[in-house]
This record gives sequence, C-alpha cells and structure tokens, in this order.
Amino acid sequence: MAENEALKLLLTPFFFIFGSLLGSFSNVVILRMASGKSVIFPPSACPKCNHQLHAIDLIPVLSWLTLRGRCRYCQTPIAWQYPVVEACMAMILGFSYMKVGLGLTFIVLAGRSAIWFVASVLFVRNEVQSPNPFAWAVIFYVYLNFPLGVCPFVDRQVLAIPVIAAIIAYIASFRNDRANDFAWGCLSFIFIYSLLPKFSLAAAIPVFAAGILSSHAKTSRAAHLLFFALQIIAIAVAISPF
Ligand SMILES: [Zn+2]
Repeated sequence: MAENEALKLLLTPFFFIFGSLLGSFSNVVILRMASGKSVIFPPSACPKCNHQLHAIDLIPVLSWLTLRGRCRYCQTPIAWQYPVVEACMAMILGFSYMKVGLGLTFIVLAGRSAIWFVASVLFVRNEVQSPNPFAWAVIFYVYLNFPLGVCPFVDRQVLAIPVIAAIIAYIASFRNDRANDFAWGCLSFIFIYSLLPKFSLAAAIPVFAAGILSSHAKTSRAAHLLFFALQIIAIAVAISPF
C-alpha cells in the first residue's frame, strides 16, 4: 500500500507536466491546422519576427508567464491561448490520473477529454471547415463506442436519447447551410449525455438552445461560445477527481 502511495506521488506531477507538453504540441496542431501547414516542420518560430524559438521559450505556461506574454525577441504580445491550452491539457491528464489511476479507464478518460478539448478550441476559433466536423463526428462516435465495454461513463442502452437530440438539432438547422453547427450540436449533446446520464434532460436544454441560436446568422457566434462552454464544463466534470 505504501508503495502505491509513493508511485502516485511520483506519477501525479509526471502527468501534469506531460499534459502541459501535450498542450504545447496541441497549440502547434491548432494553429497549423488552421493555416494548413505541416504539423511536424518547420520548428517553432515567432509568427511576427520569425525568430526561431529555443527550449527556454517553449516551457509550457512558465515561458509565457516569465516573458509576461511577449516574444523575447520582438516584444510582440503572445496570445493567451498558448498558456491556457497548456494549462488545460496539464489538468486533463493530471486530474484524470488522480481520478482513476493507471489503466485502460485512464487512457479512455484522458484520451477522449484531450481530443475533445482540442476539437472544441478549433471549433470556437471557427477553423474547423477542414476536415469537416462530420468527419470528427464519425471518428468521435467510433472512438466513444469502441471501448464501451470498459468505459464506465456510457450506457449503451440509453444512446436513443442522443439520437433524438440529433434529430431535433437537425430540425433546428434544417433551413440553412450551417451543417457544421448541427454536427457540433449533436456531438456536444452526445458527449455531455455520455458523461452525465443522470442529468441528461438538464444538459439537453442549453444544447438545444445553442442549436436554435446556431440556426440564425446573427446569433451563430453566441451558439459557438455556448457550445464551447458546454464542452469545457463536460470535460471538467468528467476529469474532476473531487
Ligand atoms: Zn517575435
């Protein structure tokens, strides 16, 4: 028992640090997917002055804080998205480990929360035209269901409710071309529902509201922000060890 405690003390900071590094990589993926560039090459550089960044500039969260949010070389402000994504990914991996320990459940919980978080940031930045969110939908659906036998968060028998939600969201977006929002509305609900089956109806209300908002051009930005907030709440609930 004492040995397990020691291992936990060692692995908890490891997963927070590993998560922050994964967050740093996620920022690269998010920004380069948005601009259609390669994720692997070239190495990171300041987008303003093109100065190549060194290890000391790339320490998750800490570099941004010590540089007070500015490029070391040209003083251009660095978006707060960088440290926020790094901190969120650190919490996703760290808290997931604190909650369920090592094992398949940890991989499912941390993995799908991390994927869903990155997808949500891409969505709220309004940069998910390619790949089409329907591709995300299929991938996520398979991903969610494949390990169902070992995943304690999803009850196979109650998937009918997300399907009904999908139909309602489709009706909400029926008369316009905002199929992206429709796809995200459905996924948002499936995700929240899979995490909070007991609160499914309460969770449904804001998702339907976002679906309706997304059906009008003037309110579609508000719908994006509402969807994003729902994803973050769902992820926070899923990984919370408290
Ligand atoms: Zn610079």
